[in-house]
Amino acid sequence: MINDEIIINIDKVKESRVKQIDWDNLPFGKVFSDHMLVMDYSDGEWQQPEIMPFGSLDLHPATSAIHYGQSVFEGMKANKDENGEVLLFRPEMNAHRFAESCERMCMPEIPEDLFVELVKRTVDIDRDWIPSKEGYSLYVRPYMFATDDFIGIKPSDNYKFIIFTCPVGAYYSQPVSVKIEEFYTRAAQGGVGRAKTAGNYAASLYPAKKAQEEGFHQLIWTDAAEHKYIEESGTMNILFEIDGVLVTPAEDMDTILRGVTKRSAVEIAEHWGVKVEERKVEVQEIVKALREGRVTDAFGAGTAATIAQVGKIGFRDEMFVLAPVESRGISNRIKKYLVDLKSGKIEDEMNWVIRF
Ligand SMILES: *Cc1c(COP(=O)(O)O)cnc(C)c1O
Repeated sequence: MINDEIIINIDKVKESRVKQIDWDNLPFGKVFSDHMLVMDYSDGEWQQPEIMPFGSLDLHPATSAIHYGQSVFEGMKANKDENGEVLLFRPEMNAHRFAESCERMCMPEIPEDLFVELVKRTVDIDRDWIPSKEGYSLYVRPYMFATDDFIGIKPSDNYKFIIFTCPVGAYYSQPVSVKIEEFYTRAAQGGVGRAKTAGNYAASLYPAKKAQEEGFHQLIWTDAAEHKYIEESGTMNILFEIDGVLVTPAEDMDTILRGVTKRSAVEIAEHWGVKVEERKVEVQEIVKALREGRVTDAFGAGTAATIAQVGKIGFRDEMFVLAPVESRGISNRIKKYLVDLKSGKIEDEMNWVIRF
C-alpha cells in the first residue's frame, strides 16, 4: 500500500533509459535508475520531498559533509515476484538504524514511517528497473549529508536526504577469502562503529587494500583494544558454525554494525531449532576450532552480498581452507531461504516482507 497523505512533487523523465540496459551485464552500483528522491532539511524542518530525474547535484565548495564527514547511509534491496508485485525486506529496520546513525552523527532524524514511505515511492516510480532474473535486485541507497556552506566545526543546520536505486546482479560470485586483522581497526568502543556513516568506510580502505595485495577479498576486524575478539567483516557481519552451533559476535558493543541480514539469519536459524550463540567470540577460539577442523561453515551476512560464504581464512602465517560451499549446510539453507523469501517464492511466515 502507498500512503497518499505524503505529498511528493514528481518530475518524471521524458523518456526512460530502462530499454538501454544490458540486463546480463550489471556491475554492482554503476547503473542508475531514471529517478531519485531529494528532500532538504532547512529552517529546522524537513521540506517537501521531490522525485526528479536522476542527475548531478550542484554543491557549494564549502559543503560541510565533504570537509567534516556528517554523512550517513543505508542499503536495501527491492525485488519483484512473478506477478510484478514489489517486495521490500524489513525496511523498518533500515529506517530505525538510519535514525540511530543520524542521532550519533548529530543529524536530524527522519520519522521512521516517513523513511519507509519515501523508499517505497522511489522504488515504485522505477519499478520497471527491478530485474526479474534470479539473484538480481534493485539496490536502494538512501543517504543524508550536511550541506551548510560554512567552514567551521559544528553540526550543520542544513542537510540533504536522497534516495536513488541501482539494478544489480550478484555481489560476490565466488567464496570469499578473509584475513583476521590484528593491527588496523575499524571501530573503537565509544566511537562511531555502530553508525552507518561514510567515514567508517574511508578508514577501512587502506587496511582492506593491504589485505587485497596479499590476495584476500576482505578483512575480519577484531576489537580495537586488544585484537582479541572477532567483530565483523567490513560490509558484512560474520557467523561461524562450530560443533553444530551457529556462533556470531554479540552486538552489545557499539563497534559492530547491527545488520538486518545477520539479525534475520539468526532469527530464522533459531526458528528452525538451530542452536545460536550471540556472544563474545575470541580469535583464539576460532583459530583453534579451524585447526581442529571443527568450523563446518563460515559466512558473511549483508544486504549487498546477502550470504557470502567464506572459502579461506588467513591468520598470521596460517591459511585455513574451509569445506567446499556446495557441502555447507546452514549457510546454503539460510541463503536459499532469504533469496526465496525476498523474491516472493515462499510464504512469509516471519512477516518480514512488505509488498506494493
Ligand atoms: C551495512 C553493513 C553491514 C550489513 O548490514 P545489513 O543490514 O545486513 O545490510 C555490516 N557491516 C557494516 C559495517 C555495514 O555498513
